[in-house]
Amino acid sequence: MCSAAFGCLRMNKISLIVPCYNEAEVLPILVRAMNEVADGMCAAHELCFEYIFVDDGSADDTLGVLKDLRREFSQGEGRDFRYLSFSRNFGKEAAMFAGLEHSTGDFVAILDADMQHPPELLARMYEDITQGGCDCVATRRVNRLGEPKLRSFFARSFYKFINSISDTEIVDGACDFRMMTRQMANAVISLREKNRFSKGLFSWVGFRTRWIEFENRERAAGETSWSFWQLLAYSVEGIAAFSTRPLIIATVIGILLCVAAMALTVFYAVKTLVYGDPVSGFPTLICTVMFLGGIQLFCIGLIGQYLAKTYIEVKGRPIYILRESAGGEERR
Ligand code: UDP
Ligand code: MG
Repeated sequence: MCSAAFGCLRMNKISLIVPCYNEAEVLPILVRAMNEVADGMCAAHELCFEYIFVDDGSADDTLGVLKDLRREFSQGEGRDFRYLSFSRNFGKEAAMFAGLEHSTGDFVAILDADMQHPPELLARMYEDITQGGCDCVATRRVNRLGEPKLRSFFARSFYKFINSISDTEIVDGACDFRMMTRQMANAVISLREKNRFSKGLFSWVGFRTRWIEFENRERAAGETSWSFWQLLAYSVEGIAAFSTRPLIIATVIGILLCVAAMALTVFYAVKTLVYGDPVSGFPTLICTVMFLGGIQLFCIGLIGQYLAKTYIEVKGRPIYILRESAGGEERR
């Protein structure tokens, strides 16, 4: 699996995948930290490393910085510095997928560019994963430092909701920061859906995951590229990708309302026959009509969401498009 050119035929190779979107400022700090960690790990084990930076169509000079860093990097000696650059911004999910697809390591780790995922943890992950007993070492945030309170509240509520309606467990606070075996990475690569929600996909493929906890940190530089609305759309994606239960809930609400309508019809018919009451109550009528109209539109919208996801899937477009890349044995 390892490249003979780097003399690591019998050594374990670790692929480190970093999705980058407008991270020019932080990349030099990250690469320095990654090198330190790799040096430390190489001192303890016979290892070689492959860095894969995925420039997700950044608008800043991320690609230029990657090229400079690659030029300065001492290639060889069991280190390979690769980058992939997308033709436009395809999103973090696509960037992680591209990294996984191009990785050649026996173990594959994913970490964010902004140092919020401490690279030092990689050493511990490798110890854990090679000790056996698990196929993946994944991280959970125990706090949400550096995150607005309202965002934390919505994030927590989202996890509660999705776990109550999905059969795949989505762990609260689970990060994409994880190391997995080649076997598990191949399983994730085999899931070629366009609406990707990795937290669910990692859980869906199964395998044994060991969780380690870490304290969230502030970004080393730059700022988060996720807006509140993007996160909301991502949550809807997660729900639509991992549960069809909302459709069942909509059906149940429909049935209950039909039963209630029938019961009311019988009630008013009997009441009119027995007491000869004229039917009155315009406000009741308008409220009921509006309520039912609302529920109907909501359910149509819900079905539309699933239909839209299906439409995107059947178009069969690629998950990402590369504009350029360097390093490694290219497969495409
Ligand atoms: N990212 C990406 N494409 C995007 C948005 C983000 O590759 O469209 C990368 C980003 O460069 C970073 C990681 O995904 O390495 C996490 O992004 P960010 O730090 O903005 O998210 P947060 O930590 O706030 O969840
Ligand atoms: Mg971040």
